[in-house]
Amino acid sequence: MPEDFRCYLVTREGDRVTAGITRRPMSELPTGDVLIRVQFSSVNYKDAMAATGNPGVARKLPHVPGIDAAGVVVESTRADLPVGTEVVVTGRELGVERWGGWAEYLRIPGEWALRRPQALTLEDAMTIGTAGFTAAQCLLAVRSHGVRPPDGDIVVTGATGGVGSLAVKLFASQGYRVVAVSGKADKHEWLRQLGAAEVIDRSAVLDSSSRPLLSARWAGAVDTVGGAMLASVVKGTLHRGCVAACGVVGGPELPLNVYPFILRGVTLAGIDSAWCPEDRRRVIWELLSTSWKPNDLAVQRTVVDLDQVADVVPKILAGEVSGRTVVRVATEND
Ligand code: NDP
Repeated sequence: MPEDFRCYLVTREGDRVTAGITRRPMSELPTGDVLIRVQFSSVNYKDAMAATGNPGVARKLPHVPGIDAAGVVVESTRADLPVGTEVVVTGRELGVERWGGWAEYLRIPGEWALRRPQALTLEDAMTIGTAGFTAAQCLLAVRSHGVRPPDGDIVVTGATGGVGSLAVKLFASQGYRVVAVSGKADKHEWLRQLGAAEVIDRSAVLDSSSRPLLSARWAGAVDTVGGAMLASVVKGTLHRGCVAACGVVGGPELPLNVYPFILRGVTLAGIDSAWCPEDRRRVIWELLSTSWKPNDLAVQRTVVDLDQVADVVPKILAGEVSGRTVVRVATEND
């Protein structure tokens, strides 16, 4: 075992947060019964927040971001996870309370590790990552509220983002007619390739009036944006429709009143992936690696090395990234 490991570390110097690639001694890794040699991680919006020292995500500094990781067990005290097992880790405290996947090594409680599903490579699993897991939770929520493909359109906001693009693909693959909402005029064709039947600009959905209800257009929704966009979607949802709310890139406030709920019976389903119960988590990964497995994952990913994530962070915070960014942590010599 090496004495130290390479990682992307966020630190504080006085009032200033700085971040970059460095080496840290193995002894600084947190306790846990499984040590993983990380092969791939990914860049989520939450990671970009952690990478800039946002205290709501990076609870204490110094910190290593990375809410997703995939790699190989190199030390273990658990019989169910022997050395050599390939594993995928997403959510819980990873990359938030605990140092995450933007590092060559990761030590975690073994129950956080999922054996790599047979049908997915580690790189595919990280292309899906928390984003795909969240999109799948949205699909489960919409379906469990009884919304079926013949009921009407599913709107996906922030459609070119990690969660959004995988939601477009997932709902389309399950027979829904997906309307993708995006601020990127140059990505409409790409969204159609993913399965969107229609692509519209944000301004066509965003309503800044104080009207309590809008003309009803959506049987269901995946909202990755929050704020006024989420409110607009809820106000425009059909009778008995379901809106799965998972994001906050457009702000945390929700300018709504109760009328969509009491006059149209709209359901607002909250989606929380970090602490999704274990049994449901396993069911979702099973679906994502079998009947819900997204095809052509390569179309949706950009692969960068660990020393390139610093360039991705400001772009994802500015809403400029499309699809999933997978981080190749292991180097050619590994
Ligand atoms: P990305 O940055 O990949 O995608 C966000 C997308 O939202 C952008 O690509 C852009 O898409 C759109 N967007 C960005 N800024 C704005 C804005 N001001 N107004 C409207 N649209 C905007 O992020 P992720 O997919 O990783 O995450 C999306 C959201 O979901 C984040 O808030 C994240 O924290 C949350 N999330 C929540 C989870 C949960 O468990 N609840 C789990 C995972 C993510 P376009 O240009 O196409 O409009």
